[in-house]
Amino acid sequence: MSDKTTKVVIVGGGFGGVKAALELANKPGFSVQLISNNSHFEYHGALYRSAVGHSPMEVIIPLKDIFSGAKNVEIILDSIGFIDAKKHCLASLTGSTYSYDKVIFAMGNKANYFGIKGVESHSEEMQDINSTIKLRRKLVGLLNNNQTKPVRIAIIGAGASGVELAAEIPNFAKFVAKKSNKKPKPVKVILVDGSDRVLPMLKPTASKKAGKRLKRLGIEVHLNIQVESCKSGKVCMSAGNLGADLIIWTAGSKPSEFYSKNPDVFTLGRGGRVIVDEYLRSTHSRNVYVIGDNADTKYSGMAQTALHDAKYVSESLINAKHGKLVKKYKPRKPIYVTTVGPKWAVAQIGNKVLTGRAGWSIRRQADLAIFKNFQPYKEAIKTWRKADKMTKL
Ligand SMILES: Cc1cc2nc3c(=O)[nH]c(=O)nc-3n(C[C@H](O)[C@H](O)[C@H](O)COP(=O)(O)OP(=O)(O)OC[C@H]3O[C@@H](n4cnc5c(N)ncnc54)[C@H](O)[C@@H]3O)c2cc1C
Repeated sequence: MSDKTTKVVIVGGGFGGVKAALELANKPGFSVQLISNNSHFEYHGALYRSAVGHSPMEVIIPLKDIFSGAKNVEIILDSIGFIDAKKHCLASLTGSTYSYDKVIFAMGNKANYFGIKGVESHSEEMQDINSTIKLRRKLVGLLNNNQTKPVRIAIIGAGASGVELAAEIPNFAKFVAKKSNKKPKPVKVILVDGSDRVLPMLKPTASKKAGKRLKRLGIEVHLNIQVESCKSGKVCMSAGNLGADLIIWTAGSKPSEFYSKNPDVFTLGRGGRVIVDEYLRSTHSRNVYVIGDNADTKYSGMAQTALHDAKYVSESLINAKHGKLVKKYKPRKPIYVTTVGPKWAVAQIGNKVLTGRAGWSIRRQADLAIFKNFQPYKEAIKTWRKADKMTKL
């Protein structure tokens, strides 16, 4: 083992960054700086629940709690904007600099509007806890107002986030009405997608079952439709205009512009993700790793992939330090579990598709497995149980 302490700087306090830091926590010969522009970790898989009345405390875990026992991990609240790979140095947007021996980037994604006119200014998103709380306020406002005609909610994007959110709204409308002792308001939820089926990343049989369930919940699904622009109260589409009291965009995400602004260190591939070599390193620098949503790997875009990547990179760093063989990265196929309304989910594990309560039970186990990565068992159970209850509005 080399005597010199390896200074690892990790950028991003989400799935990939936090997991990598935890894997290196208290490991001899390593010092870690975890730099994030957010003081807490966010579990995005539970965002849809926060949008419809569940506790945001199920989504956020303070970084200081996660690392309370980690002696060699320093948490720094900052936003990284620049890298000088030759000098092994990062700079934040406010001018602070950080030197590194190895750096791991895991800065996650943000909404991608694909340049469609008016979408950003006229729609809400569910990309993080702040945007989700804003969305929830808008939903509650609409469901509580004195308008007598049905509330029209258009969700653009029938991937997992759009489907999960759409399917919960009818139930949420009843909850809001009960809390304010009013009759439930009629709600029309319209799910729009350019694809020919909902959940297009799943097998067609899984999409079909999810589609049927959405229909049973009263969700209107419009497929094969391109959104051309959004205006106040209106979605303009290839098939005509759609009036909406609330427009929600869940149709795409992309990595931060940080990578395109540093082209001497990163080459971009699919969807603006960074092309990495077989060890998840930037093709320009052996000391720069990119993981999770930002890396152009086969299953990028899933929390499970970010966790797998983080484990792989930290193990590689530890093995290299001990003079052991560093294996090449192998992508791991994730399981897909999407809820479609209360206590119902569609799960795809390999070629197997499970739906209903069975799917829901898999989803709950998957949620718990996520929390166990970041919290001691008893704490993880407490956080996990928050999903069973709706909070006050
Ligand atoms: C609504 C929604 C639902 C989802 N549901 C699921 C699901 O059910 N199952 C699943 O597997 N995946 C799901 N995902 C995807 C999953 O959340 C991501 O794949 C995962 O978070 C990727 O991890 P990451 O570490 O790459 O990025 P993230 O977890 O997003 O972490 C990125 C971190 O970087 C920080 N950061 C960003 N820019 C900077 C900067 N310049 N400087 C410093 N810090 C910065 C951010 O604040 C954040 O802390 C969902 C995503 C969304 C949006």
